[in-house]
Amino acid sequence: MEFKNTLEFAKSLDAIDQLGVYRDEFIFPKVNGKEVIYFTGNSLGLQPKRTQGFIDEVMKDWAELAVEGHFYAKKPWWDYHEQLAEPLAKVVGALPEEVSVMNTLTVNLHLLMVSFYRPTTKRFKIICEEKAFPSDQYMFQSQVRFHGLDPKDTIIEVKKREGEHYWRTEDVIQKINEVGDELALVLIGGVNYYNGQVMDMKAITKAGKAVGAMVGWDLAHAVGNVKLNLHDWEVDFASWCSYKYMNSGPGNASGIFVNRKYLGKTDIPRFEGWWGTKKETRFLMKPEFEPMENADAWQISNAPVLSIAPYLASLTLFEEVGMDALIEKRNKIVSYLEFILHEIDKEVDSSFEIITPKDRGCQLSVFLHGHGKSLFNYLMENGVITDWREPNVIRLAPAPFYCSYEDMYRFGQILKAGVLAN
Ligand SMILES: *Cc1c(COP(=O)(O)O)cnc(C)c1O
Repeated sequence: MEFKNTLEFAKSLDAIDQLGVYRDEFIFPKVNGKEVIYFTGNSLGLQPKRTQGFIDEVMKDWAELAVEGHFYAKKPWWDYHEQLAEPLAKVVGALPEEVSVMNTLTVNLHLLMVSFYRPTTKRFKIICEEKAFPSDQYMFQSQVRFHGLDPKDTIIEVKKREGEHYWRTEDVIQKINEVGDELALVLIGGVNYYNGQVMDMKAITKAGKAVGAMVGWDLAHAVGNVKLNLHDWEVDFASWCSYKYMNSGPGNASGIFVNRKYLGKTDIPRFEGWWGTKKETRFLMKPEFEPMENADAWQISNAPVLSIAPYLASLTLFEEVGMDALIEKRNKIVSYLEFILHEIDKEVDSSFEIITPKDRGCQLSVFLHGHGKSLFNYLMENGVITDWREPNVIRLAPAPFYCSYEDMYRFGQILKAGVLAN
């Protein structure tokens, strides 16, 4: 499609946008009395208007029923989390029994590493991407030390090539083959938080499985953003947070995926608690743990209903729209944003460099050559909410659920004024 950098053209794209009506499902913060242009849905998604109702329902049941709410609430609390498995399974391409919601992301990855990182004398190494998200790095290091190993000999980082801003799939696969039968685990971010790259999860999973390693994915920036087929790709496990593209509120409950082949087992290493034991006999308070037949076996504590309720609210939106429609709009709006960036760059010769490769989801990471934090501050003061990553990168993620083409056009105008003013 031929794009144009005009308000009229942007509005014409909005007029035919089938997801356009969903903008009104979300609450936009205001700067100087005007709704912001929100580019940080990759960090904290906007609040859906319907979320309040889901929370109010729990609060009301708590007030009126107190402990009886566990069984007699409108949506009983003792198995509240079970409602999320089916819609969430569609978002990540899994079977409903392979998905569960609990805890938070890094906690879940730790718990999943308990099950799926089982180093032996021969096979103990972990492959991840260089400069993985800090929480993931701390997790790897502490897990490795927990097993009495030295992170230096154990954690292998796949590097980008000199002068390049992205990882090459062939380099990841080559590293996997090189480490071979010493490789215990591959655990990488499915979409990189810094450059927005979508990893070839299918090919990398296949390569990891072929050398006999476990393969897991941190899907923080992937869930609700890119097409996932965890089951068909034969991924062993994965986890994600719900507050980025899934719009479920700060620090809220995380999701896990455990491949069907590990379900219903009593002999798998796992940290266990009463919410993972069979529902039917849970309240008999028996001494033996009988795992749920699904990924809920990894649940430990009783469900944090107040933090799951917003996730359920958000999933109703994903149910209505579906990932395919979101991805279709995502591709178009990100392309339009890319076009706008190039146009502004031509108009004011600002030397932006988009460091996100072609394999991308919703995010464009832009290196602002020759511009400092003053330009970033200008954007923020003028109602463009974006974020800054050292040394000189802003990340722009126009979430397709609520961003409009007009936002992209207006952003371009503010950016241009900012370049001229700085
Ligand atoms: C956002 C993000 C996290 C956050 O972890 P929490 O445990 O939810 O604080 C972890 N890993 C990656 C790759 C992320 O992008």
